Amino acid sequence: MNMLLTIFQKIRKSVYMFLYFLDSKVLKRNAEIIVICYHDIGEEGGFSVRLKDFIRQIDTLKDLEDHMEGKKKIKSPSFILTFDDGYRGILSTVPYLERNRIKPTVFVISSKVKEKGQNDSYLSLPDLKALMNKGWHIGNHSKSHIPLTGINDLTMREEILSSTQTLSESLGTKIRYFAYPYGRYNGKVTDRLSHNNYDLGLTMDDNTFDKVTNRYQIPRIGINKSHGFSEFKATISPSVIKFRAFAKKIGIGNLFSILMDLKDKSYD
Ligand SMILES: [Zn+2]
Repeated sequence: MNMLLTIFQKIRKSVYMFLYFLDSKVLKRNAEIIVICYHDIGEEGGFSVRLKDFIRQIDTLKDLEDHMEGKKKIKSPSFILTFDDGYRGILSTVPYLERNRIKPTVFVISSKVKEKGQNDSYLSLPDLKALMNKGWHIGNHSKSHIPLTGINDLTMREEILSSTQTLSESLGTKIRYFAYPYGRYNGKVTDRLSHNNYDLGLTMDDNTFDKVTNRYQIPRIGINKSHGFSEFKATISPSVIKFRAFAKKIGIGNLFSILMDLKDKSYD
């Protein structure tokens, strides 16, 4: 399993580096605004990213932003940082992000948000309030993190409407952003968001973001531990983003997630 994963990672890296070279040296183009999605920050799990890697990655994005601002006027910020699931591990990023005045959005699973000490894997209600005081935004990631496609109306009400109410009441603020669990959505889900006065719905579709992007289909680039630093830099390049969308469409992207998952399990 590990060998297959290594081969897969090597091929992916070569494709990314080639496309990155094409974008940066030949076509000379950059994605203007990208939304990045992380899960946990820490040593454990394939979908988390180590704190030092995270800082290095975000530092690069800041450089990219400066570089782009020098070249042409781009509305700041040129990258938007999001964290999904509301893991406690992301608290380790607070000092760094605060120093750099970066204010992310955290998408929480409402049933996991408890009072302090009741569930140590996830951010508690006081944690979220403290982050809000630092200017972070809190978004909804459903009540129980089930895929929202293919569920009945009653369940959908629970997952979107009740969780919105729970979060806005407990946090004392309007919840305006929603991230679809597993990035899965359809017309019914997006309709529900617009009826509930959500401003944005965030997907895991690989794409760049511009003025014509549907506000309930905001694309995001998912980053996890399997992306080395050079790959990370390539990941935010337009041709690589298009390649990722293609890979997902034909199923390669999913295969990779499955391999990662199996590798993680075999380490347990
Ligand atoms: Zn999630």
